[in-house]
Amino acid sequence: MIEQVDVLVIGAGPVGMTLALALADGPYKVTLVDRRALAAQAGDPRALALSHGARQLLEQLAAWPTRAATPIETIHISQRGGFGRTVIERSDYDLPALGYVVRYRDLAGALATRLNDNAVLEAAEIIEIAPGDDRVTVTLRHQGVVRHIATRLLIHAEGTPGDDPAVTVSDYHQHAVIAEVTPTPGHDRRAWERFTADGPLALLPLGTEYSVVFTLPPAKADAVMALTDDSFLAALQAQFGGRLSFSAPGPRSRFPLALRLRRHLVAGRQAWIGNTAQTLHPVSGQGFNLGLRDAWQLAATLLARGLDPSALAAYAASRRLDRHGGAFFTDNIVRTFSTDFGPLKLVRGLGLLALDLCPPARHFVAKRMIWGARAWP
Ligand SMILES: Cc1cc2nc3c(=O)[nH]c(=O)nc-3n(C[C@H](O)[C@H](O)[C@H](O)COP(=O)(O)OP(=O)(O)OC[C@H]3O[C@@H](n4cnc5c(N)ncnc54)[C@H](O)[C@@H]3O)c2cc1C
Repeated sequence: MIEQVDVLVIGAGPVGMTLALALADGPYKVTLVDRRALAAQAGDPRALALSHGARQLLEQLAAWPTRAATPIETIHISQRGGFGRTVIERSDYDLPALGYVVRYRDLAGALATRLNDNAVLEAAEIIEIAPGDDRVTVTLRHQGVVRHIATRLLIHAEGTPGDDPAVTVSDYHQHAVIAEVTPTPGHDRRAWERFTADGPLALLPLGTEYSVVFTLPPAKADAVMALTDDSFLAALQAQFGGRLSFSAPGPRSRFPLALRLRRHLVAGRQAWIGNTAQTLHPVSGQGFNLGLRDAWQLAATLLARGLDPSALAAYAASRRLDRHGGAFFTDNIVRTFSTDFGPLKLVRGLGLLALDLCPPARHFVAKRMIWGARAWP
């Protein structure tokens, strides 16, 4: 027996779930498939910085995790061992916050509670994908049963892709070591982005803690993962400087970092969204914000234009500027700032100083972080 759906989404991560929710009031039958149980998302250690624009979209889906979100009121950007710094303040933008920090698990939980019962086939294994002219047929195993599902559109939201000739990969030779630490004095809703020769160090306010994203070359990341808690705090302190002190570190996790860009977002009746479409360096927290806008834009296009490959082509065209802008922005920040080369350090310092002294330039950067492509001229 072949089951029929309108939209099948592979991957019930935050981006796949956002798409399903954004389509929920429309006429389409939507099913999500994930290889894991949704409960497994509770073990994800990441904290995500979300833009004000992301909050607005999630609120429209009634999936904004209000109590779990910590507002960012100030962002302090500096470089280790060099002059120049920029401070971005909420009060300059007439917004309740510059952005918010949320644990991945709280965000995923808020989205999951909004899904209809039986919307997700959990712990399912995809066996085959067979594209056809008016349907894509997906064969999968769920609860020991092999099922065939014919879908008018197949949307991929499986997260970061592995090696795939359809994806260009640029390895940063950096790993992110993440952990939560308690700051003294308190964080006062201030986020820090500190550029070092090893890579960017970000501190994001989260509850009473800081969520630390400590970017390092792979060998140093090995060493930092192996440190005792006290030595880890000392290494963090050395990289950050003396303005705050840290204690009570939580468990550490690591993520290898590369820019992965899928060349084409659409093939026939299939489309790619979220991290499987583009995986960026976490500097400046763009990844999920971009994936959320992918899902939102795709849903709006399908609701307006129907489930036709031409709608997918329109979707792909509409995402070009945002995804390439985000990739270009983060890639350039990482490459320009992750070096101790003297003249570059001078240029960076002058750049940070210029941003600080020149409000229009600072607003240009801040607005892109707050709104994404909506802020592009
Ligand atoms: C250290 C770090 C810090 C980050 N910080 C930020 C930040 O501050 N702000 C921000 O916006 N972004 C940040 N990101 C990026 C953010 O985590 C991702 O952009 C976001 O999680 C992507 O969501 P997704 O739903 O596309 O993919 P995922 O969250 O990876 O979800 C993919 C889902 O697909 C499922 N899946 C995978 N393969 C299959 C398969 N074959 N069949 C069925 N299901 C499958 C998985 O089980 C999973 O549930 C950060 C990333 C890292 C690594």
